[in-house]
Amino acid sequence: MNAPLPKAPINWIAVFALVLLPIIALIAIPLYAYHHDFSAAAWISMFVLLGVSSLGITAGYHRLWAHRAYEATLPLKIILMIMGTFAVQNSILFWASGHRTHHRHVDDVDQDPYSINKGFWYAHIGWMLRDYPAGAPNYKNAPDLLKDKVVMFQDKYYVPLVIAVHAAILLPIGWAVGDVWGVLLLGGLMRLILSH
Ligand SMILES: [Zn+2]
Repeated sequence: MNAPLPKAPINWIAVFALVLLPIIALIAIPLYAYHHDFSAAAWISMFVLLGVSSLGITAGYHRLWAHRAYEATLPLKIILMIMGTFAVQNSILFWASGHRTHHRHVDDVDQDPYSINKGFWYAHIGWMLRDYPAGAPNYKNAPDLLKDKVVMFQDKYYVPLVIAVHAAILLPIGWAVGDVWGVLLLGGLMRLILSH
């Protein structure tokens, strides 16, 4: 009667961000660079936007939402949410709740969502590609986040928000500097790969 445990289901958003995007980038960026030159502005956009998305994660996802290290006004929360969405590291709710569990169970292999004891691959990437039980959203450790309107809005509309935020940030910069494709490829794609 004991059927073998089914393999954890694949998380397609993570597979897209962590596996498909790098493959697309590996093909598209050299191909584009061969036919056109990237503008200096496109390179600069990559570094500046890397700073923007990193700040969304460190100041927003990590310090504000996971650890409640400080209080933020509504406009600041919205700005940090947009910057963090631009980093494509899943929703604040999922990330911050998982991070709290990680801090609580760093030595408990089965409950830590990204335990290093399950190996380097699992701790860094593997835990994200399948929906393992330890990583299953259990928001019991995040009642404050469940009441946060900015957090819940982002969680509900995560995928359309990721697309909208990328369009709203990358396209105006691309038009302003006259290199839309360069900014999309370096400020968008290449930046995401460097930040992941
Ligand atoms: Zn932490």
